[in-house]
Amino acid sequence: MADKTLTCKDCGAEFIFTESEQAFYKEKGFENEPQRCAACRKAKKAQRNSGNYGGNGGSYGGRRDR
Ligand SMILES: [Zn+2]
Repeated sequence: MADKTLTCKDCGAEFIFTESEQAFYKEKGFENEPQRCAACRKAKKAQRNSGNYGGNGGSYGGRRDR
C-alpha cells in the first residue's frame, strides 16, 4: 500500500489518504475512500457537534450534555 492523493469534493483541494488511514478504513470495512479533506471533515464535525443535524446523523453514541 502507498499513500494516495485524493481530491476533496467540498473544496476541491488535494489531500493525502495515508497508508495508515487506508489500513484503518479497511479494518473498519469501509468501502469508500474519504470524500473530503481533513479541514472539511473537521468543519463538518464541528457543525454536527453544534446540534445542526443535516439528516445523516444516526447512531452516534456518547452525546454530551453539559
Ligand atoms: Zn476540503
